[in-house]
Amino acid sequence: MFKETRLRLTAWYLLIIMFISISFSAIIHQALIGEVDRFARAQRFRIEHQFDPAAPQEFINPEFIEEIKTRITLVLIIVNGGILFVSGVLGYFLAGRTLKPIKDMLDEQNRFISDSSHELRTPLTSLKSAMEVALRDKHLTLEEAKILISENIDDVNKLQYLSDKLLQLAQYQKQNVVRNLEKTPVELLISSALKKVASMAKKNNITIENQVPELSLYCDPVEITDLLVILLDNAIKYSPKGGKVILKGKKSRHNLMITVEDQGIGIAEKDLPHIFDRFYRSDTARKKSNTGGYGLGLAIAQKIVTNYHGTITVSSRLGKGSLFTFRLPL
Ligand code: ADP
Repeated sequence: MFKETRLRLTAWYLLIIMFISISFSAIIHQALIGEVDRFARAQRFRIEHQFDPAAPQEFINPEFIEEIKTRITLVLIIVNGGILFVSGVLGYFLAGRTLKPIKDMLDEQNRFISDSSHELRTPLTSLKSAMEVALRDKHLTLEEAKILISENIDDVNKLQYLSDKLLQLAQYQKQNVVRNLEKTPVELLISSALKKVASMAKKNNITIENQVPELSLYCDPVEITDLLVILLDNAIKYSPKGGKVILKGKKSRHNLMITVEDQGIGIAEKDLPHIFDRFYRSDTARKKSNTGGYGLGLAIAQKIVTNYHGTITVSSRLGKGSLFTFRLPL
């Protein structure tokens, strides 16, 4: 598909270049042939009237004139052949470069669709098989049926969580989102993020220490709250019960910097370059059975930060904890 489109685009480039080149060549050909004829006529005139003693005494051989004309035509054909070849090669190269961003976008979209379907398939298959087994069981009691339904609800919840995350990612991937930018106290963003993770923190007995001083940021409050929720949610998820999460903040001349630090399971060095990739989960995270993530949180976080032309980085040591830092231009 890409190759076909590239060839078609090359053909269009060639068509345009050759149209221009042949038109100019035709004009040049006409002009040169006219010049040769004019020169031959002038020579004949000078010989016939003999008012110039320095004039040649013989007519130029008409065959010689014809040969010059043929040579002009030949040179122009060769030049056009050269242009055809060079512009064919260049056109093919340029068509590839023009189409590359479109190809990358399509590849990315296809990867997104196939990754998402792959992730959706697992809970759907488990739901389907559990229901099929129950349907075939003739002695299924009401008690067993209730257990099954509650298990199914767990799977449905996972599916709902996954679809919410996919929607959120798709939303942040849109190029021209209309944002509600306003000057917001960072304190307000943090408190609304803390509210969202409070029950989870309580369940895991995690203390969250907010050491961010009074700052303000020009942003869409919903987006930055989402970003903080993702980082806090991870810090809680990947911390042992009774752990501590610390939030710090600083303003420099051009940036606002916020850090989220935990003393949790940490991230292995080999995983660090990949944790912002979509659907990437480290083996340690997978083993921690109750975390239930899909590897989408940090991909969303990175998207939010890059939409603000900011950066997000991580430093971590396995078994010691992680420190996530994001910087947003003021
Ligand atoms: P998930 O839903 O799996 O948490 P994320 O995209 O939020 O997805 O994170 C990707 C991976 O990065 C996680 O699976 C985990 O391996 C690692 N990770 C993220 N945050 C932390 C953290 N605070 N401590 C340890 N590992 C983390």
